[in-house]
Amino acid sequence: MRVKATAGEITTQQGFFNTVREKCGQPIELCYQCQKCTAGCPMGEYVDIAPHQVVRMVYLSLADPVLTNSMIWLCSACETCGARCPNGIRISEVNDVLRQLSASLGREKEKRTATFHRMFLADVKSRGRVHESMLIARFKLKTGDLFSDLDLGLRLFQKGKLTLFSSAVRDKKGVREIFRRVEQARQKGGR
Ligand code: SF4
Ligand code: SF4
Repeated sequence: MRVKATAGEITTQQGFFNTVREKCGQPIELCYQCQKCTAGCPMGEYVDIAPHQVVRMVYLSLADPVLTNSMIWLCSACETCGARCPNGIRISEVNDVLRQLSASLGREKEKRTATFHRMFLADVKSRGRVHESMLIARFKLKTGDLFSDLDLGLRLFQKGKLTLFSSAVRDKKGVREIFRRVEQARQKGGR
């Protein structure tokens, strides 16, 4: 289930801020740009905008640039920013909503990451756990990127971190029920 929003809604200036503020529940308006979040972010060197800029862009309702940047997809949800923020703003929660909006509007900058997210969740939903080797194989076939990371994959395999076989959890029905309830809660107005 994704956050529902039409392109019209999110490009309305106030509409964008209101939508994100409501869905993430974070006090974005309290941010005074001290940049403590950015100073501790482990993804800093890989992204095109910094965490404090994400917060500012949402506050200013700059929908287009904030929905098409790599930060929202590469955020590892480590919560360092939330622990450091003097105003208790958890940017991973903001990024979560932005990812969903970005995906629902087809604006994902990191298409591969978005594809991986979907495949990972589909695996969990159907089997209750991820079978890493199969997930990577399917991901490689889907993206057509067959040979990058091959050496890394071999090393993981040699160390027993990737296995050829993996069983599903016993209570697959229970896992699907969790997904169903989350979807239901989101439809009622949560995330
Ligand atoms: S640490 Fe908090 S207040 Fe400071 S820039 Fe980041 S989000 Fe804003
Ligand atoms: S939760 Fe995301 S934005 Fe915050 S410090 Fe970690 S990687 Fe950076």
